[in-house]
Amino acid sequence: MTSVCKVVLITGASRGIGRAIALKMGSLGYVVALNCRSSAEQAEEVASEIRKMNSEARVFLADVGDAKSVKGMFEAIKRDLGPVSILVNNAGVVRDNILLRMKDEEWDDVLRADLTSAFYCTREALRDMAKARWGRIVYVSSVVGLMGNAGQSNYAAAKAGLVGFAKSVAREYGPRAVTANVVAPGFIETDMTQKLGDQYREQFLSRVPLGRAGRPEDVANLVAFLVSDDAEYITGQVIAVDGGMVMY
Ligand code: NAP
Repeated sequence: MTSVCKVVLITGASRGIGRAIALKMGSLGYVVALNCRSSAEQAEEVASEIRKMNSEARVFLADVGDAKSVKGMFEAIKRDLGPVSILVNNAGVVRDNILLRMKDEEWDDVLRADLTSAFYCTREALRDMAKARWGRIVYVSSVVGLMGNAGQSNYAAAKAGLVGFAKSVAREYGPRAVTANVVAPGFIETDMTQKLGDQYREQFLSRVPLGRAGRPEDVANLVAFLVSDDAEYITGQVIAVDGGMVMY
């Protein structure tokens, strides 16, 4: 399969890392389905940038933490663009709090948007991938899922959950030539990290051997490789894009 005409769905593609992945995929000639929950205007701007590169792009609004919404989105993508052969589970939220103060809603919101969303999207995507005997799935986790972080137990649990989930998908659907890999970004400059205070930022960056924050494009470049034909023998792996912050 060549890259041209493959449909790639990127969840949470209206800004930040998802936006960079969408633009990268558009620049490579893929047909791009961009998802977000509510920031339609921003997503439309990304889609229009992709169309300027002469690639097809459309926005599909859906809450990926809601099974019905995800099912409807996959039906709409199939009708409008064709079956999804590459899925990038990128949408995510943070609701930080120390554990003793964490509210049930803060736990549930993060688990739903960051982990359950991947289950819903993967289940829908796999139907056509298994039939086609070809597919690529990437999960955007976080170094926090690998090393934990004070004040982020909900987020760390969700992001660590993606690792076990991806490895299970890799084992179950490897025989159908579907690969499933995890990308674990470190500190990347986006709206999500903009909200953090200077002290938190300094603390994180002091642990980065390469001495700078990451750019969304740093993550997008790895995702583009993992979904390409060149990566067909790589599955069930977790790769950090973190300037060397976490080394195993
Ligand atoms: P961001 O700037 O906050 O963007 C998040 C995206 O996810 C937006 O497009 C948002 O759209 C979408 N989204 C959130 N909940 C959704 C839902 N329920 N349904 C559909 N879309 C939803 O975040 P980012 O920094 O680019 O992060 C992207 C991913 O990388 C996340 O999974 C994050 O955990 C992970 N990550 C980020 C960093 C970092 O340093 N930035 C580090 C490690 C991992 P709406 O606003 O329209 O909902």
